[in-house]
Amino acid sequence: GNWKMNLGIKDSVELAEKISRGSAPFRTVDVALAPTLLALSQVSSALQDSGVHIASQNHHPFDAGAFTGAVSASMLKEAGCAYAIVGHSERRTLFGETLMDVHNKVQSAFNAGLLPILCIGETLEQREQGQAKSVVQEQLLSAIEGLSAAQVAAITIAYEPVWAIGTGKTATPAEAQTMHAFIRSLLHVRYPSFVSDDVRIQYGGSVKPQNAKELLSQPDIDGALVGGASLTATAFIGILTAITQG
Ligand code: PEP
Repeated sequence: GNWKMNLGIKDSVELAEKISRGSAPFRTVDVALAPTLLALSQVSSALQDSGVHIASQNHHPFDAGAFTGAVSASMLKEAGCAYAIVGHSERRTLFGETLMDVHNKVQSAFNAGLLPILCIGETLEQREQGQAKSVVQEQLLSAIEGLSAAQVAAITIAYEPVWAIGTGKTATPAEAQTMHAFIRSLLHVRYPSFVSDDVRIQYGGSVKPQNAKELLSQPDIDGALVGGASLTATAFIGILTAITQG
């Protein structure tokens, strides 16, 4: 659940506790919440021993230094994060993050002991021009360059077509599956087979209780990165319910 710049400290803790209680029957699914930076420590304390993980939304690639307003991966680790969202399309488009920035953030997440959740995905314009696969390939391969096979296997890749984020438009299960299979195949030809077998590839883009089951029943869709629908416990638990129904 990526909460983006929503919810203050009190509301974040409240929602985290509700989600933690409501998701307890679904512990076969790994659940992580990404609150705002400000709420991170308190949410982390509230969720201690709950089995729900904390993710950061962004970090600076350097470990420390004169970078006013920034936080590093090791600081986020200390605050209770297990995962680090990296390269979200809002970071790329609104904050000008480059392929090199994303690469450096993946590296620094690993160096700090955080598992990256690497977001990749094409814009509508790129899809319409037939560039979706090449964009996704470039974003993926540049981000993971130089990592060990074990590190690549430990990444969560989030395929998030930009045109489906926060728009209510969802890729069809077939469209998403095609891209997920392509992503897995990119890893399959470059790394030992355990990497493409083990790597987790999530779909993100307007996932909600109504469409989660069909999307996640595709063979190469292993999970969901959820924005809007993670802001209420009912919708988020609804997604968990939908995907765990037999
Ligand atoms: C996201 O923030 O990564 C996202 C997928 O948002 P939404 O679910 O609101 O489309």
